[in-house]
Amino acid sequence: MKKNINRMLLIIAFLAILFTMLLITMVYHRLFEQQVLQDLESVVRVIGHTSMEMEDVAECLQDIRLTLVASDGEVLYDSWVNHENMQNHGNRPEVVQAVRQGYGQDVRRSETLAKNTYYYAVLLPDGAVLRTSKEAGSILSIFVSAIPSLGLVLLVLVFLCMGVAHVLTGKLLRPIERLAEDLDTASNTSAYLEMEPFIDTIRKQHEDIMKNARMRQEFTANVTHELKTPLTSISGYAELIETGMASEADVERFAIGIRKSANRLLTLINDIIRLSELDSAEQKMVPEQVNLYGLAETCVDMLALSAEKHEVTITLEGRDAWVQGDRQMLEELLFNLCDNAIRYNNAGGTVQVQVINENTGVLLVVKDTGIGISKEHQERIFERFYRVDKSRSKSTGGTGLGLAIVKHILSLHGAQMELFSEPGKGTEYQIFFRKKAIEG
Ligand code: ADP
Repeated sequence: MKKNINRMLLIIAFLAILFTMLLITMVYHRLFEQQVLQDLESVVRVIGHTSMEMEDVAECLQDIRLTLVASDGEVLYDSWVNHENMQNHGNRPEVVQAVRQGYGQDVRRSETLAKNTYYYAVLLPDGAVLRTSKEAGSILSIFVSAIPSLGLVLLVLVFLCMGVAHVLTGKLLRPIERLAEDLDTASNTSAYLEMEPFIDTIRKQHEDIMKNARMRQEFTANVTHELKTPLTSISGYAELIETGMASEADVERFAIGIRKSANRLLTLINDIIRLSELDSAEQKMVPEQVNLYGLAETCVDMLALSAEKHEVTITLEGRDAWVQGDRQMLEELLFNLCDNAIRYNNAGGTVQVQVINENTGVLLVVKDTGIGISKEHQERIFERFYRVDKSRSKSTGGTGLGLAIVKHILSLHGAQMELFSEPGKGTEYQIFFRKKAIEG
């Protein structure tokens, strides 16, 4: 970047200097031409009024040529060439002009382009035309003769610009370099207001990356811990049986323990796999028209036995309501919410599932009369492995991943969720699927 800025600045400076020099040369040459013609005019006017002989005047004016042209164009006198050998000058532009308006001037370029000849002519009272002329360098020759000094100036200026460009880019880029070294502290001392949004975005992304890394680390630690517990108990039971320390009655008990721990492991692994699948679900999601009420009906049927076991009554209200979504995910969503509503309920409690068709979408309500969740836990229960009451969760077969899966599914479906809960009274989940995702 530094190199590019330096190079750009140098090119701009070089072009600017070159252009300025060309412009100055052109302006200077114009002024020079005007000056030459003015000199010629002064000379010709002085001669017109002098009584000196033409030859005497010519002798005084060595680099100026004098020509006297008769009114018919015949050359009567020339200070440099024998006038008898000269052609008729009646059609020379400066002579024609002088005859017409009293004076005339012309500049003629030589073939080599190195020199110009300047002419100034005046009409004398007797009808003859007196002309002065002088050779002087053309713009090209002036420019060529100025090349060494111009080159020197150009070189000095280019070196100067190089130094300035170097200092300037260093100064310009220093805040950015400081930012690259340390994003957090440098952002507070940012020199450019325009860079604030850019810094903010980078800082946000940086924080997100760090947060994700921390979460992944925590998740791995949690997974290890969660897997370790059932595996340790399986290994313990197996060891007791292996060493013959368990009686026949114990063996049966231990076998039940092993089966329970193995089931727990399986559930845990299934949930972990499901979460990682959902992480990359965007490609795999198969959206279709799904009847949410139909899904809720199946879910309530499936959980009837569990509800009975927990002495909880589960009911469903509503009618067909179509939602655009992934059938399997929506099934999981319903199952996790209803399962929690049963597991975190009290004996004699109820779970009410409602599927309501609204103008703007479909509302799903899962309401229980269970133990409820206090405010401080409400924000965190969607985190992976976060549980309010660990032993209750474990004893009822919970993995601490159910609501994390729910949150994932909701975000994939663009659905909004509201949670109302009060400890001792119960919990209500309201999930709203917007209409644009609904047809039929
Ligand atoms: P788990 O497998 O432990 O149930 P979840 O992710 O499904 O994990 O839920 C996280 C925690 O949120 C649970 O451990 C429980 O403490 C709390 N929770 C979830 N649903 C309810 C509910 N309906 N009533 C009370 N507490 C709940």
